[in-house]
Amino acid sequence: MSYNQNLKDKYCDILNNLKSSGLFKQERLITGPQDAVINVEFPIGTPEMQVINMCANNYLGLSSHPDIIQAAHRGLDEWGYGMSSVRFICGTQSLHKELEKVVTEFLGTEDTILFSSCFDANGAIFEAILDEHDIMISDRLVHASIVDGMRLAKAQHDTYKHSDMAHLRKKLEQHKDYPRKLIITDGVFSMDGDVAKLDEIVALAEEFDAMVFVDDSHASGFMGKTGRGTHELCNVMGKIDIISTTFGKALGGASGGCISGRAELVEMLRQKGRPYLFSNTLASVITAATLEVFRILNKSTERRDKLEQNTIYWRKGLSELGFVLKEGDSPIVPVMLFNAKLAQEISYDLYQEGVYAIGFFFPVVAQGQARIRTQLSAAHSTAQLDKALLAFKKVGKKHGILGLSKEQLIEKYGL
Ligand SMILES: *Cc1c(COP(=O)(O)O)cnc(C)c1O
Repeated sequence: MSYNQNLKDKYCDILNNLKSSGLFKQERLITGPQDAVINVEFPIGTPEMQVINMCANNYLGLSSHPDIIQAAHRGLDEWGYGMSSVRFICGTQSLHKELEKVVTEFLGTEDTILFSSCFDANGAIFEAILDEHDIMISDRLVHASIVDGMRLAKAQHDTYKHSDMAHLRKKLEQHKDYPRKLIITDGVFSMDGDVAKLDEIVALAEEFDAMVFVDDSHASGFMGKTGRGTHELCNVMGKIDIISTTFGKALGGASGGCISGRAELVEMLRQKGRPYLFSNTLASVITAATLEVFRILNKSTERRDKLEQNTIYWRKGLSELGFVLKEGDSPIVPVMLFNAKLAQEISYDLYQEGVYAIGFFFPVVAQGQARIRTQLSAAHSTAQLDKALLAFKKVGKKHGILGLSKEQLIEKYGL
C-alpha cells in the first residue's frame, strides 16, 4: 500500500511527541556568511538579529577568510566544478593527491586518504581494516559517526568508561587474545571540550599490542603548539596509527574529511573503503580551498595563538563573573547550569542581548548536565568578547546565578 492517511498520522504522532517532549529541533536561519558576527532569524520568520557567534566550529576564523574565498574561486576556474566520478574511476585530480600529501606532512603521518566528510571517513575505516575475529574498544563518549562506523564493521565491540584508563586497561586485559585490537577515541570531546589522555592510551596500546584511532575533528589546526592536533599536545606525534579529521570545522569549514596514518591502513581504505569506492570525489573547489588553509597554517601559528589567547581571556572573564565552567584546554567552554529549562532560558536571553550560544541538555548530554556551550574563534575581537561577557553578566544577574557554586545552582533550580 502506498503512503496513506494511516501512515501519515503515525509520522505526525512521532513528530508531535518530539515537540511535546521538547526534543524537536528547529533550524536557525543565518542570512549571510558564517563569521564572528552574524545575522540570524530565529525562529524563522521573526525579525533578524545581529549577534556575536559563540557556537560555530569556526575555530581559526577561516570560514569566510578572503584568501580562502579567493583560493576557492581560483580552484573553480582552474579545475572545474564537478568531477562526476568516484576517486578510483576518473575522480582523482593532481589537486587531490597534493592535498593528501600536505595533510600527511601537517599531521606527521605516513599517508592520507580524502573523503567527502569525516562522517564518511569514520564510516569507512573500521569495516575496511578489521574482521569478525578482531575487537574495537571505544570510549563511551565517541562521536555519532564513529558509533555508526563501528556498527558497519564485523569486528567485536566493547567500550570503556569515558577517559577512564584503569577501565581501558581492564578491557585490554580481558580482550588480550584477539589478534587485532583497536582503541578508539575522540581527540577533543565536543560536549565537554576535554582532551583524551593520548599519552596513557598510547602506552597501554604498546603494552597490549593494540592500535590507536583518534578522531581529531575538534582539534586539527589548533590544538598543540603548532596546531597539529591532540597528538602534538599530548606528545605522541607519530604514535597514533589512525587519525580521522574534518575540513568542515577549523580547516576552512566547508566540508570534507580524511583518514591519515599508517601507509598500509590507508591503502586498505583505497582498496576497501566503501564511501571511497562508491561515493563522489571531494569537490575540486573545496580541495583547492583546503590546500590554501594549510598554506596559511604552515606560514605561521598566528591564528591558533590568537584562538588560545581568546580562550584564556574568555574563560577568565566568565569565571570572574561567577559562572561555573567545565575545566579544559580546548576552545570549547561549557557554562554549566545543570537544569535544562534554565539553560534554554539563558540561551534565549543571551540571544536577545546579541549573543548566540546554544543550550544543550538531555539527551545530547547526560541528565542533570545542562549547559550553554560556548566556542571561541580566532575571528573574535577582544571588543566582541567584552560585549559578550557583558551580556552574560546581565543575563546571569537577571537569573540570580552569578557567583553560585554547582551545589547552589542545583539547590536553586534542581536538575
Ligand atoms: C563534526 C565531527 C564529525 C563529522 O565531520 P563531517 O566532516 O562534518 O562529517 C566527525 N567526528 C567528530 C568528532 C566531529 O566532531
